[in-house]
Order: sequence, then structure tokens, then C-alpha cells
Amino acid sequence: MNPNWREQAACRTYPVDFMYPERGDTAGQDAAKALCTTCPVQYPCLVQAIKDGEQDGYFGGMSGRARRALKRSDYVTMRCAWPTCGKEFAQRHPQNVCCSEECKRKRRNQYRKLHSYKTYRETLTKS
Ligand code: SF4
Ligand SMILES: [Zn+2]
Repeated sequence: MNPNWREQAACRTYPVDFMYPERGDTAGQDAAKALCTTCPVQYPCLVQAIKDGEQDGYFGGMSGRARRALKRSDYVTMRCAWPTCGKEFAQRHPQNVCCSEECKRKRRNQYRKLHSYKTYRETLTKS
């Protein structure tokens, strides 16, 4: 993870309060969450907030409560198995090896292609 990810934070030009909406301020909470979903560093931000045990505020698009729930669950960090993607992603249970449906599809197609080559196995045994 690039340690300078904070430089790309979508919230860096916003007042600090923006990410700390009051309890019951649903409009404020929605606005904070919406900002996070446009943020290019949402994932490292979420991981950092969980690591640091941040109790309050919206970080990585999640409230403190949602982050605590995520931490209690079987939260795992994976790297997308589609090599040209390789994006890090979080999930509760390690059931997906790809970060998205699109990567899953590309990976499946790639394997199909490989296995349709008659010579594929021969190539493998030769090398
Ligand atoms: S995910 Fe949200 S809180 Fe984290 S850096 Fe981006 S905008 Fe800020
Ligand atoms: Zn991917």
C-alpha cells in the first residue's frame, strides 16, 4: 500500500467536521459516505481506519459502527486473482478470488482459452 495515499484523499479539501456528521444527521452521513465512494483511496483508508481502531467519523465509506462489525467478522484482505488487475479488496469471507464480476469473467475466459489449446499441456510438460 502506498504510504502517501492520503495525498489523494477526496476529503482532504473538506472541513474535518464533514467526515464527522452528528448522530441522527442522516443528510450529513449520506454526504460523507457519498464522498468516500468517489475517493480513489477508499480501500486503504478503510483498512487504516480499522487498523487504527478509529471509533468515530466516516472513513473508507463506513461509520465507526460498521467498521467495528467488519472487524469482528471474518474480514480478509485479498489481492484480485486476475493478474492485470491485482487490486486489493476486502471481504468478509474468502469466497471470491476476484475483486469484481468483471475480473471474475475475464479470468474464467482466460482459463477457458488456455484449456482449449490442445497443445497447452504439451507445452507445459516440455518446458
Ligand atoms: S475514503 Fe472517505 S474518509 Fe477516506 S480518504 Fe477517501 S473521502 Fe476521506
Ligand atoms: Zn480485479
